[in-house]
Amino acid sequence: MKTIPKIDFEVTQSLFVVSAPSGTGKTTLNRRLMRDHSDIVMATSHTTRPMRSGEKEAYDYYFLDIPSFEAMINKGELLEYAQVFGNYYGTSFRELRKLVHEGKKVVLEIDVQGWEKAKSTLIATKSIFIVPPSLEVLRTRLTGRGTDSIEAQQRRLRTAKMELMKSYLYDYFIINDDLEQAYVQLEAIIHHGQFAGISKQNGIRHCEGLIKEFELSSWDLGDLPENIQRDKKETG
Ligand code: 5GP
Repeated sequence: MKTIPKIDFEVTQSLFVVSAPSGTGKTTLNRRLMRDHSDIVMATSHTTRPMRSGEKEAYDYYFLDIPSFEAMINKGELLEYAQVFGNYYGTSFRELRKLVHEGKKVVLEIDVQGWEKAKSTLIATKSIFIVPPSLEVLRTRLTGRGTDSIEAQQRRLRTAKMELMKSYLYDYFIINDDLEQAYVQLEAIIHHGQFAGISKQNGIRHCEGLIKEFELSSWDLGDLPENIQRDKKETG
């Protein structure tokens, strides 16, 4: 295997983290950014989930089995990893070093748990949270596919709620009520290095508003994870 020079993950300005509750359009936005700017690439993650039709090895993910993924964890080869909907997903140091070494700006499309783990290593990395304009929009996007079971829909909503509760981990917030505008804002941060959207404080406030809407809604989220049940009790 070719040796790739080391990079200092604590200081590199070449990495950008983009997270969003599922169904918020992040992959569409990131892919367009890559098409428009040849110096911007998305890091390819490793996963144990089965390949979906139309996906390509090494483009969508590096697909591998559970023992191989666990071997990477044990050898310390992953910057972060998480279990999302029952499958492992992770970002390797090697992938990031390779892309940064090629002189690219690298977008890591990772979930909130992944960023929570990686944040202390990637100190200089700018992080972006793409959020829905309202809970109703989020619900329509998450449950609108029509083919998912009620349990799968509830699980997505629960996960989205937990993710919104961690909004304080992010530097920039993009409210995706219009895909074109959301794209311009994402491009402003990653390509132009300047952002004229909402402040961090207002972004967090927006997420808190969505969580309140969750609390007030009559939606059945199924069996909530213990930490959310506890939060519910504390807030009465
Ligand atoms: P999907 O299976 O639909 O491609 O992705 C499911 C979720 O896994 C998405 O929320 C996506 O952001 C997250 N994900 C993809 N790659 C990674 C990764 O390398 N690390 C972490 N923590 N999450 C990831």
